[in-house]
Amino acid sequence: MSYSNTRLFINGQWCDADTGKSLPVINPATGLEIGRVSCIDRAGLDRAVLAAQSGFEIWRNTPAVERSKMMELAAKNLRARVDQIAVLMTQEQGKPFAEAKAELMMAAEVIDWFAGEARRVYGRIVPARNHSTQQQVLKFPVGPVAAFTPWNFPVNQIVRKLSAALSAGCSMIVKAPEETPASPAALIQAFIDAGIPAGVIGLIYGNPAEISEYLIKHPIIKKITFTGSTPVGKQLAALAGLHMKRATMELGGHAPVIIAEDADVQLAAKAAGSAKFRNAGQVCISPTRFLVHENVKDEFLEAILRQVDALKVGNGLDKDITMGPLANDRRLAAMADFTQDAISKGAKLITGGERIGTAGNFFKPTIFADVPLNAKVFNDEPFGPMLGISTFKNLDEALEEANRLPFGLAGYAFTQSLKNSHKISQELQVGMLWINQQALAWPEMPFGGIKESGYGSEGGYEAVEAYINTKSVSIFNG
Ligand code: NAD
Repeated sequence: MSYSNTRLFINGQWCDADTGKSLPVINPATGLEIGRVSCIDRAGLDRAVLAAQSGFEIWRNTPAVERSKMMELAAKNLRARVDQIAVLMTQEQGKPFAEAKAELMMAAEVIDWFAGEARRVYGRIVPARNHSTQQQVLKFPVGPVAAFTPWNFPVNQIVRKLSAALSAGCSMIVKAPEETPASPAALIQAFIDAGIPAGVIGLIYGNPAEISEYLIKHPIIKKITFTGSTPVGKQLAALAGLHMKRATMELGGHAPVIIAEDADVQLAAKAAGSAKFRNAGQVCISPTRFLVHENVKDEFLEAILRQVDALKVGNGLDKDITMGPLANDRRLAAMADFTQDAISKGAKLITGGERIGTAGNFFKPTIFADVPLNAKVFNDEPFGPMLGISTFKNLDEALEEANRLPFGLAGYAFTQSLKNSHKISQELQVGMLWINQQALAWPEMPFGGIKESGYGSEGGYEAVEAYINTKSVSIFNG
C-alpha cells in the first residue's frame, strides 16, 4: 500500500527543513515505519510566519464570494480524492477504512458549510441617537492564526479550524500531528488545487512545544486555536494570555451517559455502544461514564455486551473491520493502567481488559461494571475502547455524578420523558448534549466545551466569530 513522506508547506511551496530533520511515521496496526515527516527548524518558522502575514493581506482583500468559491472547490477536490486519502489515514492513524472515508466526507461538508458562511460575515447599522450620526458595527478578520491539532481525527481537527478561519478572511499556519501527517497534507493539497493563494495556508510539523512557544509569542500571530489534552491546553492558554492573544481551546472530556429508567435501553446500547468504540474510543466526545438506572442495568449490560461481541478488531484496511488499533503505544500503556487501577479499586471487569497479540496497538474493547467513583476510569479521560458503568436510583443523583468532574465537553442521555429531557438539558454541565441519539457533529451546530474542557466553538456561526474582530464606528456628519 503506498504511503509517501510528508513535507512542510510554506509560502506556497512543499519543502523540507534546511536541517533535513525528519521523524518516522509508524503504522499502529503493524508497528512498522511507513514513511517520514519533515520537522521544521527556526529558519522555517521565520519564513512560515512572514508568509502567513503576506497571505493574510491577500486573503483579507479577496472578495468574500471568491473566497467562498475557492473553498467550495476545495471541498469538491476532497470528495474526489476520498478513497485515496482514506488509505493514507488508515495506515497512519489506524481507524477502519470506512471511518476514514466518513471523516473525509464530513470534512468536505464542513468546508462547504463554512464556504457559505464566508458570504455572510455581516456588520450592522445601529440606530443612532441623533440624525447626523451613523453608528456602524464593522467586522474584520483577526489576522494570521496558529492552529495546533491532534492525531485522533487528522483531517477533521484541522478542517473545522481552517474552514472557519478562511471564511472570516484569516490566514492560518497549521501545526498538524507528527504521528498522522499524510492525510492533513492531502487536505491542504485539496485547498491548494482550488487556487488558495500562497501564504494563506501553511502546514508544519516538528517539536510541538518549540513551535507553540515560537508562534504564540510571535507578534504576527493574532490568534491561536488548539485541540488536545487539558494539561497542554492550560499551558498554551496561559502563554496566549501572557501575550494577550485570542484563543480557542478544544480540550479533553469525560462524557457522561445517563440512561434513565424510562429509556429505550436497546437504543441506548446501540447508539452509545457504537459511538463508544468509534475510532477505538479516541474521541474527545466519546461516551465514557455510563450512569444507568438500577432497574435497567441488567438489560443494558446484556445489550452493550452484544454490541461489543459483534465488533471485529483488526487492521483498518482489512475487510469488515469495525475497530482498529490505538493510534500510538502511549494509549496501549494507558489502557493497561486504567484496567489495573479499576480492578484494584473493586470494579467488575465484564469483558476485555487486555492487549490483543503483540504486534500493533490492539486492545480489547473493555467494559467495567460497578465502577467505584475513585477509580481512574471514572476520573481521567480513558481515550480508548473502554467504558465504565455505575448505577443510580434517581435522576438528581445521576446529574450530581455527571457534573462531578471538572470536564464539560459532551454528554448523552436516554429517556422517553419530556420532563427528564428538559431537566437534563437544563442541569447537565456540558457544551454539547445528545438525547436519544449518538453524537452527530454537524458543522452548523456549535462544537465546544465548558469548564476544563476549554472555551470557544468550532461549529455554527460562533466558529466564524472566533476569527473576527469587531469595530464600533460612529460617524458624525452634522
Ligand atoms: P499530549 O497531551 O502529549 O498531546 C496532545 C496533543 O497536544 C498532541 O497533538 C500533541 O502534539 C500536542 N501537544 C503536546 N504538547 C504541546 C505543546 N507544548 N504545544 C503544542 N502542542 C502540544 O497527549 P497524547 O499522548 O498525544 O494524547 C493523550 C491525551 O490527549 C488523551 O488522553 C486525550 O485526553 C488528549 N487528546 C485529546 C484530543 C481531543 O480531541 N480533544 C485529541 C488527542 C488527544
